[in-house]
Amino acid sequence: MKYIPTVGLEIHSQLATKTKIFCGCPTAFGGESNTHGCPVCLGMPGVLPVLNKHAVELAMRMALLTNGEIQKRSYFARKNYFYPDLPKGYQISMFEFPLIKGGYIDLKTENGPKRIRFNRIHMEEDAGKLIHVEGDIESYFDVNRCGVPLIETVTEPDFGTLEQVSLFLNQLKELLIFSGASLGNMEQGNIRVDANISIRPQGQKELNTRTEIKNMNSFVNALAAIEHEIARQTDIVEQGKKVIQETLLYDPVHGIIAPMRSKEEAHDYRYFPEPDLVPVFVDDEWIDRIRSELPEMRNEKRNRFIQEHGLPEYDAEILTTSPDIAKYYELVIGEGADPKKASNWVMGEVLRILNETRITIDEFKVKPSMLAELLIMIDNGSISGSMAKTVFDEMASNGRHPKIIVAEKGLTQISDKGELKKVIREVIESNPNEVEKYKSGKTNLIAFFVGQVMKMTRGKANPQEVNVILREMLS
Ligand SMILES: [Zn+2]
Repeated sequence: MKYIPTVGLEIHSQLATKTKIFCGCPTAFGGESNTHGCPVCLGMPGVLPVLNKHAVELAMRMALLTNGEIQKRSYFARKNYFYPDLPKGYQISMFEFPLIKGGYIDLKTENGPKRIRFNRIHMEEDAGKLIHVEGDIESYFDVNRCGVPLIETVTEPDFGTLEQVSLFLNQLKELLIFSGASLGNMEQGNIRVDANISIRPQGQKELNTRTEIKNMNSFVNALAAIEHEIARQTDIVEQGKKVIQETLLYDPVHGIIAPMRSKEEAHDYRYFPEPDLVPVFVDDEWIDRIRSELPEMRNEKRNRFIQEHGLPEYDAEILTTSPDIAKYYELVIGEGADPKKASNWVMGEVLRILNETRITIDEFKVKPSMLAELLIMIDNGSISGSMAKTVFDEMASNGRHPKIIVAEKGLTQISDKGELKKVIREVIESNPNEVEKYKSGKTNLIAFFVGQVMKMTRGKANPQEVNVILREMLS
């Protein structure tokens, strides 16, 4: 490579609070446009913002997990700019005195360990949303996102490869989700990535002019955009021209990068301390409490699943891809299902249906107790494994209990010895030729007899029991 790329990231993550950062409006996604708004988040005259304490605590969790320094005293600032999605004319953010300074995440790359340092993590409010409908000369404005709490994680320009960016984003997302700091739902815009990119010739120490690509709402887009931008800058430099500092937008549909506006400098925003809010004071006692309340992180969960539930590493890996799936699994075994069998069903059938129907585990109609009930029915022989799949599909589509479905459909497996013997005797009596052959050594005819029994019971006989009784009666 003739040029070395240098990338720094700024990641906006929505904090998982129920209400906005400075008012009581809900943060819930998907509300009808302009229904989550009030005089505070609309910046009406005479109102005062009040900081959401839980938002601060969620930000503190991220500091503890990334070795950041929580500041004993931090201040909100006003970032002044005009844009139609910002009714107040300013955004409340943090500038000179962020809540968290420093921190880092260690990556395991193909070429060894790599540390990505953080410059800071600060809190801020989100802006509203402009909706541009193609072919419509008017644009629309939705206030619902105004004042939704965010943390902005600003890294140092420590990335030199796309692999590092990719590993980092996934690791950060895992921390956000497992700590409960954010729902981490990318489709709902919970995580947005900005990237600063520059290239410099091999051997040169100082960084060249950088550009910034804003608002990438998926990791795939972020990686593609960074790759495109490195290529674009390489072209410019190769032609003997200079890269100009500007803000760019990536269009993932056409794979092109276009300028958004010339880059503002910090002084363009006329930052000043937010006069309507007191400083945020944090003491050690508060930090200790947040540390003691940190949820179990993915590594810990994975190891515990292996030790406590005796699962193979592979199972533990898959079951801990999200805290919700892990919780579901543990509820199933909490209801008495066998840990390994429950794992097979969650990894197989449950995840299959979630993927096919694109629903979350919360929306999934088969509750943990219902899946446990089904697994126990397989274990005690009241239904067969193949019938269980049919029952499960029905449970997933209508949310009914397995026992009811089994009873209604007459799917109960016949395991009663007396009942099975009656059928088997009938099969033996009506197939004298096969019995002769079996007795003279053609023992593989056992499959034929099992088949006949299954046919007569319309598949309801317990095949293991049938095998045992058949061998007994034929010898
Ligand atoms: Zn509000």
